[in-house]
Amino acid sequence: MTVLLANPTQLKTLEATYPTNTNLPTGAVFRHKAKQFSVTGYRSGKVLFQGHQAQVQAANWPNLKAQAATASKTTAKSKGDKLPPNFANFSVIGSDEVGNGSYFGPLTIAAVYVDKTQLDFVNHLGVADSKTLTDTKIAQIATQLMAKLPYHIVNIMPEKYNAVHQKMNIEKMKAISHNFALLKVYQQIQPQQPDAFLIDQFEPRPIYYRYLADEPTVLTQNVYLTTKAEQNHLAVAAASIIARHQANLSMNELTDKAGFKIPLGNHQAVNEIAAKLLQQGGESYLGQFAKLHFINTKKAQALL
Ligand code: MN
Repeated sequence: MTVLLANPTQLKTLEATYPTNTNLPTGAVFRHKAKQFSVTGYRSGKVLFQGHQAQVQAANWPNLKAQAATASKTTAKSKGDKLPPNFANFSVIGSDEVGNGSYFGPLTIAAVYVDKTQLDFVNHLGVADSKTLTDTKIAQIATQLMAKLPYHIVNIMPEKYNAVHQKMNIEKMKAISHNFALLKVYQQIQPQQPDAFLIDQFEPRPIYYRYLADEPTVLTQNVYLTTKAEQNHLAVAAASIIARHQANLSMNELTDKAGFKIPLGNHQAVNEIAAKLLQQGGESYLGQFAKLHFINTKKAQALL
């Protein structure tokens, strides 16, 4: 594998050279799979060349910087609540969501309990670098996690998502879902008590709790919110993988239903696919596949 760093202009050129022809991993703007190599470009500017021809392909781009060997893990510092010392070794119920930025497909929230005695098991599965894993690898790891760990998934398919969005904003939908998923796992593991709950932060703490004001049960004790929480505890990394796996399964379902590929992510092809669905069944049909409030809906309408 070779990792290069592209500026926004270079990223556009790469995308044009390697058009997306497969599922987009989280955070990716394009992903191209060929026989001997694959190329994935991320919003961060990271471009990953994988496979036999990875080096050869990467060599076609002498103007791109090679990623510094140590840069990958230390660049992103997490923000939010200050965690107790040694937090990574706690027994934690963690939660994360996926699908937030993808026009098609569900918003999926997962919570999972990783007891400190299971940290080694989770670590050895290789959950840490979830952003760079292929869908196949995600499926393999998620299956093993789900076989061993208590978890709960809230999978909000587009039709439900659009209906709920009539009544509340997306951030509130997320807050309610995280609290609910964490609670479900908490109930499953009784009488065991986790040391803490960790949420991959999407809103600051006061806003998160304001959204939960009308919920019957709200977890408040030992709850921490941090950004990049997957770096703070494996429970969140595991939750992220389980959520991604569920989202992938849902994309397959939607693809079957449409009769053609319904992709994750947000790129030009998305608008054309949406236009096709609009043509077939109007906005209510499109709403079974897509998050209608995204600007893509207008762009798709403009294509008709
Ligand atoms: Mn997240």
